[in-house]
Amino acid sequence: MAETSPKKRKPMIGLQPEGDVDWSEYRGVLVVVEQRAGVAKPVSWQLIGEAKRLAEKLAAPVSALVMGANVSSLAQEAIYYGADVVYVCDAPELEHYRTRPYSRVCLHVIRQFKPEIVLMGATNTGRDLAGAIATHLPTGLTADSTELDVDEDRLLLASRPAFSEKMLATILCKQFKPQMATARAGVFAPNPRDTSRTGEVVVVAPQMNPDEIATEVIEFLEEQKKVNLQDAEVIVAGGRGLGSPAAFELLRELADALGGVVGASRAVVDMGWISHDHQVGQTGVTVRPKLYIAVGISGAVQHVVGMQNSTWIVAINKDPDAPIFKIAHYGLVGDLFQLVPALTKAVKSRKA
Ligand code: FAD
Repeated sequence: MAETSPKKRKPMIGLQPEGDVDWSEYRGVLVVVEQRAGVAKPVSWQLIGEAKRLAEKLAAPVSALVMGANVSSLAQEAIYYGADVVYVCDAPELEHYRTRPYSRVCLHVIRQFKPEIVLMGATNTGRDLAGAIATHLPTGLTADSTELDVDEDRLLLASRPAFSEKMLATILCKQFKPQMATARAGVFAPNPRDTSRTGEVVVVAPQMNPDEIATEVIEFLEEQKKVNLQDAEVIVAGGRGLGSPAAFELLRELADALGGVVGASRAVVDMGWISHDHQVGQTGVTVRPKLYIAVGISGAVQHVVGMQNSTWIVAINKDPDAPIFKIAHYGLVGDLFQLVPALTKAVKSRKA
């Protein structure tokens, strides 16, 4: 059977428009910027940084899409972080995220400007929006990617842990464009904010009249988070080695002395020693602090995947063969009940 040209592949499923599609028109990497109340989520700038790296390999531009109400200033920010072109849809009906009006704008921009890759944060909003768009186009979507690359055929190589982290699956979307992926916050590094960068801003009209939108946001209640791991520069995280919930007090003292917050492994969250918003890892939060101190944590792959990009990792564990030492920059082998108070004392005495 003759091979179909990679540029003119016939769609394999019936949802696509009839006939051959010329995918070669699709060029560049588009990042959908997520914001709330006009404040961009850091994952948006992290993805623009990663998009820039991919776009350099593709010799193609990076674009960003900003949607919301009173969000035009974010266009300039997107340019400072690396976007060459920013599409802005600024309308009162986009004040709060709703799937249909947001996905209509995304679909319009994708169909009109034809990016070959579309990236979004793997946040609640990003997961909802990316799924809706991929279904409508239709195209393939790799959720929760932890590594992104492109090959010589301009195919996106989106890797993500699979089979309970036992393997890393690299997923390709060979038949359709754009190739879509979501990635968690903290996985990629943003480019430094460069205020000398310039770019083009393209204004996009909303694609639905307000009276066509079936859902209405009555009130928006901000979730009361007890801890903000994602923005913390220092995290002191505890695991089963603490032996009891009371021992978290030792970690809080060290975290306070260092101006940080307390994190945790899933084992202690599952035992009810600390709430889930403290959990770092595959089913918790992905973090990228300047300093991560892992106390009584063995270093299971599901934990490591959430903190391995920390700038400095210090591990405290009584078992010299604990896997956490393989990724730690500094390891303290010993009893945490002696080492943690000694560290806290040392930090406090340096500050005094
Ligand atoms: P343990 O593995 O029991 O390690 C305790 C450590 O404490 C040991 O290394 C021990 O030597 C040390 N220790 C004991 N006493 C002392 C002492 N006095 N002083 C110093 N050291 C001491 N885990 C996560 O953390 N985050 C996730 O998001 C996550 N998601 C998961 C998703 C799936 C699908 C699955 C299957 C698992 C997931 N897990 C996750 C669980 C993960 O596999 C591990 O079970 C868990 O991370 C282990 O937690 P721990 O390191 O606290 O406990």
